Amino acid sequence: TQYVYRFGGGVSDGGAGDKNLLGGKGANLDGMASIGLPVPPGFTISTAMCTRYYEEGETFPDSVKGEVANGLIHIEGITGKTFGDAADPLLVSVRSGARVSMPGMMDTVLNLGLNDETVVGLAAVSGDDRFAWDSYRRFIQMYSDVVLELDHGRFEEALEIAKEDRGYSLDTELSAGDWQVLVAEYKAIVEELWGKPFPQDVHAQLWGAIGAVFGSWQSERAKVYRRLNDIPGDWGTAVNVQAMVFGNMGETSATGVAFTRDPSKGDNAYYGEFLINAQGEDVVAGIRTPQYLTRAAREAAGAKPASMEEAMPEVYAELARVFDLLERHYRDMQDIEFTVERGKLWMLQTRSGKRTAKAALKIAVDMANEGLITQEEAILRVDPQALDQLLHPTLDPSAVRDVLTKGLPASPGAASGIAVFDSDTAEKRAAAGESVILIRVETSPEDIHGMHAARGILTARGGMTSHAAVVARGMGRPCVSGAGGISINAREKIMRVGVREVREGDIVTIDGTTGEVMAGAVPTVQPELSGDFGTLMVWADAKRRLKVRTNAETPLDCRTAREFGAEGIGLCRTEHMFFEQSRITAVRQMILASDEAGRRAALAKLLPEQRSDFVEIFEVMAGLPCTIRLLDPPLHEFLPHEESEFAEVAAAAGLDVETLKRRAAELHEFNPMLGHRGCRLGVTYPEIYEIQARAIFEAAIEVAEKTGAAPVPEVMIPLVATKRELELMKAVVDAAAEAVFADKGRRIEYLVGTMIELPRAALMAGQIAEVGAFFSFGTNDLTQTTLGVSRDDAARFLTTYVEKGIYPKDPFVSLDVEGVGELIAIAAERGRATRPDIKLGICGEHGGDPASIAFCEATGLDYVSASPYRVPIARLAAAQAAL
Ligand code: ADP
Ligand code: MG
Ligand code: MG
Repeated sequence: TQYVYRFGGGVSDGGAGDKNLLGGKGANLDGMASIGLPVPPGFTISTAMCTRYYEEGETFPDSVKGEVANGLIHIEGITGKTFGDAADPLLVSVRSGARVSMPGMMDTVLNLGLNDETVVGLAAVSGDDRFAWDSYRRFIQMYSDVVLELDHGRFEEALEIAKEDRGYSLDTELSAGDWQVLVAEYKAIVEELWGKPFPQDVHAQLWGAIGAVFGSWQSERAKVYRRLNDIPGDWGTAVNVQAMVFGNMGETSATGVAFTRDPSKGDNAYYGEFLINAQGEDVVAGIRTPQYLTRAAREAAGAKPASMEEAMPEVYAELARVFDLLERHYRDMQDIEFTVERGKLWMLQTRSGKRTAKAALKIAVDMANEGLITQEEAILRVDPQALDQLLHPTLDPSAVRDVLTKGLPASPGAASGIAVFDSDTAEKRAAAGESVILIRVETSPEDIHGMHAARGILTARGGMTSHAAVVARGMGRPCVSGAGGISINAREKIMRVGVREVREGDIVTIDGTTGEVMAGAVPTVQPELSGDFGTLMVWADAKRRLKVRTNAETPLDCRTAREFGAEGIGLCRTEHMFFEQSRITAVRQMILASDEAGRRAALAKLLPEQRSDFVEIFEVMAGLPCTIRLLDPPLHEFLPHEESEFAEVAAAAGLDVETLKRRAAELHEFNPMLGHRGCRLGVTYPEIYEIQARAIFEAAIEVAEKTGAAPVPEVMIPLVATKRELELMKAVVDAAAEAVFADKGRRIEYLVGTMIELPRAALMAGQIAEVGAFFSFGTNDLTQTTLGVSRDDAARFLTTYVEKGIYPKDPFVSLDVEGVGELIAIAAERGRATRPDIKLGICGEHGGDPASIAFCEATGLDYVSASPYRVPIARLAAAQAAL
């Protein structure tokens, strides 16, 4: 087998450049050489060699020694220099290069091939003593650091002392003689630390470096990086050996890095930096301040030192030509390294450039409009998750921040407001027109109204799937959760972070995208939803099959979701409406009533309120389908806690406080999640579902009459396990519908269906579909019940589970396709067998997760439903899944 692939000087053994074989860097060096770009000649030792190197006890087969020797001959032939030649030495760089760029691997060694003899030759042919000795000291330093792994601090220290002794402040002030003295010192340091003199044999240098690159593949750092980024251990790395070109040969030489387009805003403008008379890493290392590439960028920044466009106009023109060639060749924005040696441009690296979400969007749309890529490719190039960054207000990047602490980035976006420590105050002060940040140790369903009123939410406890995180994401409120650095005293209304204090009314800012918590107000910038975003969404909509609905229960959320393109409501949770201040007393009265008459009395108060909720929602949704779930949570979630609350309910119900308290104690459950909730409430207290259904139908008819757009309510029964449960509940809903229709003298269309959120329901889907006209997979509960994992308690062990590979991702964030997905597939198949036109959708958190959406497409569901701010993400992910 061939292990060595040559490139440069008209040769390109690797052809188009195979990344798996040559690594990313090698493949693209080969690719650039194959299209005739100026690439210093070199060769790549393939990743297959890395694998063999480890198989054979970290040794090299003789055949490879021969191939490497031939590679050197190739370089020598083109450069006219000879490796190790004392008169005119060839110098090379040795560069690692895995398939994907991987920090943790060996760094590059430059100027390899220098020793006490060749340095003299280099000085003579270049006519530049200083350059030669500077290169030699750089080489010793780099080789000692990355190949011999000696303490680099010692070399830096020696350089600092040399400068101090001579009264210099910059490296550039050192003369040839100074560098020569330093070289001697460096060699002494090597001998002291390594126990042997610095290798003078250039071939020993080369094989030392090649061995170090392959060796670094199994370094601890590289292993950790691979584990964190799902990179297989058997990929291996390639090694690139390449003739040196010198950016440090005086004022007509330079080195730089560039992007073919602006990687932060996406503008179609060259972007980059360069340094005159410098080598390799100098630009990134920040030893001197680099200069701008283009005149426009320099002027925009108000900087003085000439741009490359001004300082080296001819080379710049050549570089610009190369940028365009590369973009056309790779059909993507490129990130480039180049060096200019005495006026001649050399390309040292190209790869697809990393970019912000904003730039990704703009570049994809621009490139499709330019005809460089197709619309399908543009759709595939934008990471749906990354859109999240674009849809929320973000902190003004130029503003100063006084960071107090950092928590988890639980729900994206940024917000400033006054600190408030309880939900009632949050609601009151927000109603008075103030911006509020709600700060809680953790939140519970009772905080819904406060969370709604707040601009942002901060909690001291709880993970990425805590109540606060899930609800905040659903509402599109920024949230930082689990900020362990803060301690909250809710009674005194004070939060402490170390020695600092925040009291109620003090202004704070949270950034739910980074998890930062800041003191004071930090200005935010609003997202822009038109332009490129709008264009890409139109393209995506034309390609997707899945419909996208939203999970929403307030008119505001419904409106937001429609602006984001929602095509209906997939889940309207009626209980959220019950927590509102004006209703909670009636809700509690209903729960604590000891008989049907008592419940009906309370329900009578709730009916008009529920009806008006639905009227508003139906109006906003203007004839689009709306799935409304009847009451689901365990009743105890609504119970009063404080003495005063009991008194209030008692007064409203005309009962005494003691009776009420006894009744509340009776409602206690050991495991409420599996307790008296969902349709079990409707089975035991049918009047609750009856009144809710009544409110739905009365509202639908009212809106139909008012607007002419008749809503099509889809009434959803939660937590069904058996066909009989659904039969009973459907009868209640149908009876309510008939009563309303008779009352109003008008009928409307409606459907009754169920949520599939218990394994039994999924397995019995064939029977259940005899009654239900639709299934909506409630994957939050279905995940809990299938895995037997309580979402609210999972934070303690789930991270460990993911780290140990038990689940590939948090199953509450990304669907457990293997297990829960299997149940969904079974239910879909059995449901369709009974009722071919059954409507199938998904309404858990997973409805906004791209990987889960791909599964829904593959399973042939009709729609996904996501929280309003995730609707665009779902639209794009659905398009990608369909392509
Ligand atoms: P990294 O992956 O860390 O960027 P590279 O192998 O690209 O490592 O090299 C580090 C630096 O050295 C880059 O600035 C690169 O342009 C420069 N460099 C690498 N090879 C050569 C060479 N043959 N001649 C001149 N500079 C080089
Ligand atoms: Mg590089
Ligand atoms: Mg549920």
